[in-house]
Amino acid sequence: MATANEFEDGSKIEELTAHAEQIQEQLLAHILKKNAATEYLSRYLNGKTDTKLFKMNVPLVSYEDIKPYIDRIADGDESNILSAESVVEFYPSSGTSGEKPKLIPVTDETRNLRMLYLIVLTSVLNKHFGNIDQTGKRLEFMFSKQEIDTPSGLKARFVTTSLYKDQGIRNIFSKRYTSPIEAILCSDPNQSMYCQLLAGLLLRDEVVLVASNFATAILRAIRFLEDYWKELCSDIRSGQLSDWITDSGCRNALSSIMEPNPRLADSIQNICGCKSWDGIIKKLWPKAKFIGAVTTGVMSQYVERLEFYGGGLSLVSGCYACSEAFCGVNLEPLSEPSNVAYTFVPNMAYFEFLPVNKDTLTTSEQNIEPVDLVHVKLGQCYELLVTTVSGLYRYKVGDVLKVTGFHNATPRFQFLERQPKEGKDGQHQLDPRIMEECCYRMEESLNYIYRNFRKQNCIAALEMRVVKQASFDVLMDYYVSRGASMSQYKTPTCLNSREAIEILDSRVVGKFFSPKTPI
Ligand code: AMP
Repeated sequence: MATANEFEDGSKIEELTAHAEQIQEQLLAHILKKNAATEYLSRYLNGKTDTKLFKMNVPLVSYEDIKPYIDRIADGDESNILSAESVVEFYPSSGTSGEKPKLIPVTDETRNLRMLYLIVLTSVLNKHFGNIDQTGKRLEFMFSKQEIDTPSGLKARFVTTSLYKDQGIRNIFSKRYTSPIEAILCSDPNQSMYCQLLAGLLLRDEVVLVASNFATAILRAIRFLEDYWKELCSDIRSGQLSDWITDSGCRNALSSIMEPNPRLADSIQNICGCKSWDGIIKKLWPKAKFIGAVTTGVMSQYVERLEFYGGGLSLVSGCYACSEAFCGVNLEPLSEPSNVAYTFVPNMAYFEFLPVNKDTLTTSEQNIEPVDLVHVKLGQCYELLVTTVSGLYRYKVGDVLKVTGFHNATPRFQFLERQPKEGKDGQHQLDPRIMEECCYRMEESLNYIYRNFRKQNCIAALEMRVVKQASFDVLMDYYVSRGASMSQYKTPTCLNSREAIEILDSRVVGKFFSPKTPI
C-alpha cells in the first residue's frame, strides 16, 4: 500500500492517474485471484481468474440482487460467500432516497483503502493551501450514530462513525480537529453540536478550515448557532458549561479547555449580534482558508447560502465517495462549485461505466456494454459500477456521472444525479404568477418524451408544492431520529416513506401548476 510520504510532493497521484489502465487491470486481477473461489464468483467463473471471463459472465447487479448473500453474512454464515477475506463490519449506505439502508460488507483491506483515500484527499488540500494541519486546526462538524449489531455479531455502522471509532487515528483526530472526539461520539446530536461549536469558538484563532462531509451539516451548525450563540457566549464568559450538557464525555472534554474568557465572549457576541449574518463564518473564524464540504449533486442547492455565510471564502468540494467505494477526488479544489469534477483514484476499486442516454439519463442495458475507466468518452454520461476488494462485483452504485475531462489518463467526472431520475424542490416565492412560470419553466426543461406526453395530455401537469421554512430541517431531524447519520445526511430528492411525505405535506403553504403545456 502507498504511504503518506509518497503523496507529500503530489507525484504519487500523478503516477496513479498516468497509469490508470495498468493499475485498474492489476486491481481486477488481484480481486479475482483473491476471491475466485468465493461462492458468488465461482457461480460465474468456475474458479477461473480470467478478466475477460469476468466481463462476459459476471452480471451487473443492484443491491437487491446480492442482498440474499449479504443477509447470510449478517446472519452469521462465515463461509466465503462474497469475499475470501473476513468481513469485519458493514457500512450502512445512506446514499439512497429509499427507506432501508443497504449493508455494505467491509474487510481489513477496505479499511486500508479508506486510510489511503484520506491521505490522497489531504495531499490535494496541502498542495493548494499549504500544509493546513501544521498551521492550525480544522473545525469540522462530525457526528456519529449508534452502531447496530447484526445477528453475526458484526457491527453495522456508518463509514464516518467507523472512522471516528478507529483507535488508530484517534491521535490524528485530537491534533487535527477542534472537535473533541467525545463530542463527535456523543449520541445526542444537540449536545454534540453544542460542544463542537463551543470548542470551535474557544479555539477560533486556530481554526484554518471550516468543514463537514456534506454542506447540510455546516448549514445545520449555522442554524444551531443562531439559536444558541447567546448561551455559548455566556458559557465562554463564565468558563462554565451549560447544565443541559449531561454527557459525561462531553463535559470532561470541554471542561478541560474552558476558563472564564469575557474578552472572547464579547467579540463573539459583537459578531453574532449583528443583524446580518453575511460572512459570519469568516468573521468568527478569520484564519479559515476555505470551507470544505460536498456541494455537488443534491448539495448544489446550498451553495448560495454557504457563499453568503462564507463571506468570500472558497467552497471546496473535495471528494466523491460512497459506502460501497472511495471513488474520486477534486484535484482542482478552487474550481467554481458548478465546475467541480472528481478525478477517479484508480487503485480504490475496479470501476466500470454503463453509458446512459444524455436526455433521459436512463440506461438500456440489454444492448449496451459497460466501458472501463480509461475508455470513457468526453461529454458522455454513465452509471457507475464498482467491483471492490470486499466482495461487490459489477455493482450499480446508482449515481450518474458525466465525463468533463481527463487528468493524465484518468477521467474527471461531474456528478449529475442519483438514479432514479427524481424531481427537484421549489423555492418559497408565493407570487402565483412567478410560481406558475416556475412550473412552466420546469416542465419546459424536461426532455422531449415528457413534453410530448404532456402535449397529448397523457400525463397531468407538474405540481409544485411550497413548504414552510425549515421544513427540510424537520425532515432531516426525522431521518436522523430514524437512524440516518448527520455526518452523511443528504437531503432526499425523492421520498418513499409515508411519514416523511407527511412531514412535508403538513407544511405545504402553496400548490401551483403550470397553466400552459410545455412547447
Ligand atoms: P453514502 O453511501 O451514505 O456514503 O452516500 C453515498 C452517496 O452520496 C453517493 O452514491 C452519491 O449519491 C452521494 N455523494 C457522495 N459524494 C458526492 C459528491 N461529491 N457529490 C454529489 N453526491 C455525492
